[in-house]
Amino acid sequence: MLAEIVGHEAPLRVLRRAVATGRVHHAYLFVGPPNVGKTLTAIQFAKVLNCQRHATFADEAEVECCDECRNCHGIEVENHPDFRLLRPMTGLAGRGDGDDDDTGEDEALLEIEGSLITTGRIEGLVASASLKLSRARRKVYVITSAEAMNKEAANRLLKTLEEPPGSTTLVLTTAHPSRLLPTIVSRCQVVNFHPVPLATCESFLARRFPQAEAAQVRTVAGLCGGRVGWAYRLLQHPKVLELREEVIGWCLGLKTMEQVECLRLGEQIVGTVERWWQATATDKEVAEKALKQARDRVLRTVFPEILDVLSSWFRDLALAGADPGAPQIINQDHLAELQHQAPLYSPAACRKVVLHIEELRRQLRQNANVRLAAEVLALRMLTA
Ligand SMILES: [Zn+2]
Repeated sequence: MLAEIVGHEAPLRVLRRAVATGRVHHAYLFVGPPNVGKTLTAIQFAKVLNCQRHATFADEAEVECCDECRNCHGIEVENHPDFRLLRPMTGLAGRGDGDDDDTGEDEALLEIEGSLITTGRIEGLVASASLKLSRARRKVYVITSAEAMNKEAANRLLKTLEEPPGSTTLVLTTAHPSRLLPTIVSRCQVVNFHPVPLATCESFLARRFPQAEAAQVRTVAGLCGGRVGWAYRLLQHPKVLELREEVIGWCLGLKTMEQVECLRLGEQIVGTVERWWQATATDKEVAEKALKQARDRVLRTVFPEILDVLSSWFRDLALAGADPGAPQIINQDHLAELQHQAPLYSPAACRKVVLHIEELRRQLRQNANVRLAAEVLALRMLTA
């Protein structure tokens, strides 16, 4: 339901108004940081456009779906003839980079670093857009991380955007609108999503995870930087929270480690990245297969999550050094340790580590060797 979406009042207003006034566009571009709620909103929007219980609305405040009818359910579980959700995917086992026709056959598909949306998949989508509606009022096709379309795929999609089939709405999502063809952007109604405010994240997470400790919820809300979907996933996987503790454990031990231990610490970092991947996998078997077949890409996909933890830690150390009770401190559940360790680091040293981490993120997107990256990171932390 649209009511489940938190912190995006402005985008919801745009969509609700379009539905209430019967002026739904043929193409939308949802722009905003990853895991902020763009895809979730697109799915709920598709349901609203096709809900069998709610079809007309007296005013925009009423615009909602039921979540129970056949259309709502089919869209929710991504099994509806008039709804498609295309993500950049990499196919495992021999058929190349996501080069499938999106038929959902046996082949395992994974969304990992460097995955693409290929021409074949866009062509499949375009072909089905021209077919008659099956049981929806409006076809909705969602393309997430649309910047992952290769050039040919983007051009193929552009043709459809130029002459959109009558009752079809396309929703493209992206965190990087500048990587899209300007001609695609100009044909879409752009809807901007912003990071969800900290207090909104925190109250949402506290409602969803009533059994979690308040300090932990506050920490995760702070860590997520407004990406509420990311925070949700973290709390959903308690194993990941244990891994975060492990990462903080290294940080606490840095000052008693020798520089020569950086190789061992690098190895530990890689091991934790690997277990982070396993812990968040929905299908363990596929996750293992991916590790075997595309180990480096898999690790590069998950590494940034650990970098988030490390970066927040060093940022907190600098904050705690200046003001031990600073409200901006993210790792509130380790406040006493932060206060204890802060005098051991200079603000400049902390800043250097944070900057190195940012540089590392960039390198990881450009195929950096994971093992080497982890060792250099370990050395930077040990010499901070
Ligand atoms: Zn419904």
